[in-house]
Amino acid sequence: MNKRFDILICGAGMAGLSCAALLATGAAREKLNIRVIDAGHEPVFDYKQDVTLRVSAISAGSMQILETAGAWAGIAAARVFPYREMLVWDSRSVVDSPETLHFNAAEFGLPELGVIVENVLIQQVLLQRLRELGVEVQFETRVSDVQWLDGPTAIRAENGQKFTADLIVGADGAGSRIRNSASISVSSWNYPQHALVTHVHCAKPHRGIARQRFLANGPIALLPLGGDRVSIVWSTTADRAEAALASSDAELSKTLTRISDGVLGELTVDGPRGKFPLRAQIAKEYVRQGLVLVGDAAHCVHPLAGQGVNLGFADVAELTDVIAAALKNGEHPGDLPVLRRYERTRKGANATMLYFIDGINRLFLTKAPALTRLRATGMRLFNESGPLKRRAVRTALGLNGL
Ligand SMILES: Cc1cc2nc3c(=O)[nH]c(=O)nc-3n(C[C@H](O)[C@H](O)[C@H](O)COP(=O)(O)OP(=O)(O)OC[C@H]3O[C@@H](n4cnc5c(N)ncnc54)[C@H](O)[C@@H]3O)c2cc1C
Repeated sequence: MNKRFDILICGAGMAGLSCAALLATGAAREKLNIRVIDAGHEPVFDYKQDVTLRVSAISAGSMQILETAGAWAGIAAARVFPYREMLVWDSRSVVDSPETLHFNAAEFGLPELGVIVENVLIQQVLLQRLRELGVEVQFETRVSDVQWLDGPTAIRAENGQKFTADLIVGADGAGSRIRNSASISVSSWNYPQHALVTHVHCAKPHRGIARQRFLANGPIALLPLGGDRVSIVWSTTADRAEAALASSDAELSKTLTRISDGVLGELTVDGPRGKFPLRAQIAKEYVRQGLVLVGDAAHCVHPLAGQGVNLGFADVAELTDVIAAALKNGEHPGDLPVLRRYERTRKGANATMLYFIDGINRLFLTKAPALTRLRATGMRLFNESGPLKRRAVRTALGLNGL
């Protein structure tokens, strides 16, 4: 049987689910018939289990968006780990040098710079919220064929189900089937790095400070979890990441202690491990008649600045505002002029962030002596720059629109 919707969201990751919750919470809720479909199994968060591998640094701006979606209270009540300060330094220098970048929530009148949250927890609370709002999310429903017609778009899933909708939201991640089916091309490049992710126990207290040390092959981030534990994201060569994945707990603990310069004393591996290839990618178009891309389907950035899903949340906040305004004016949410308003705001903002992050990664990977000297001077000047530093941090925290 063919199921007909106003809006079909393909992908129940953090971007797709938050998009559905914002649409179903806002003023447009009465007017829209929404469905979410996803290829995978329903994600399950169990607070009795240890912290899961995939965590994200969630900015103050994203917390506000999740609050509007009616999900933040549930997430915060379950398990989040705030960080109030952040230190970023170069391995050619030491953590307490004048070149170390220091960010403090108090400078921005905030209780914290952000929080570390498990991805699966965000998904679970959004799913609960969607159940309350009466929006159905269908798992194990992988999009296989898409027919872009003049009227509503027809989608066929691998399980044989058929859907039609006036607006398709492509929230199906970096390899987006929706984006590819519309022949939307991307600019993309692989980084010479993979991210090795694990959790460790640290001998010295982390004091709610997120830390990042830039090494010759990429940064190691130490993100505060509960107790004396931190989540590690180590961007390094594919070979090193592979070796780290295969090494014993004792060997990996020794390596992580050494490359973090003992900033948190001895580190002891205390959690699962995973390895992720890193790439930058940006879709050349975000919208077509009846189609819009959000989250990683539209853009992927290097994780060094913890911006990926924060950009995705900013996308869905903008898109749902544009749709609500269009409905109020009697316009159709799937029409190209409406969707272009979203594209105009988000495409430039995401590209600026992507190239900024890419530039930082390249600057720290360079071995040219002149550039490494310039980098040290630049970090010291940035630290002392006042308004420039505040503006950059407010953008990273997603606060500029608030
Ligand atoms: C090591 C690492 C650390 C990171 N740390 C941070 C951080 O600290 N802060 C931050 O903001 N970001 C971070 N990110 C980025 C962040 O994880 C991603 O930006 C985010 O997960 C993307 O969410 P999404 O919902 O757009 O896509 P995804 O999470 O990829 O979700 C896509 C969904 O679409 C579904 N799907 C795919 N194909 C189909 C299909 N054909 N049919 C139906 N459904 C389909 C999938 O099953 C999936 O559920 C990090 C990334 C990495 C690799």
